[in-house]
Amino acid sequence: MKLFSKKKYYFECKSIGMNCGFEVKGSSSEEELLEILRVHAKSAHGISQIPEDLINKIKQNIRKM
Ligand SMILES: [Zn+2]
Repeated sequence: MKLFSKKKYYFECKSIGMNCGFEVKGSSSEEELLEILRVHAKSAHGISQIPEDLINKIKQNIRKM
């Protein structure tokens, strides 16, 4: 039997200085997490397209557990 650890990805909006309590918990990949954030950024922050530098900032603040 193979043992593999599945890391989960967490992100909180406030970690990049947003005044927002939104958090993504337990995404199975960075891509999935970013996809959720794209939807959230649009509906909650009016950002229809997240700029590259913000993406980088988000990636730096993604926590893996
Ligand atoms: Zn937010």
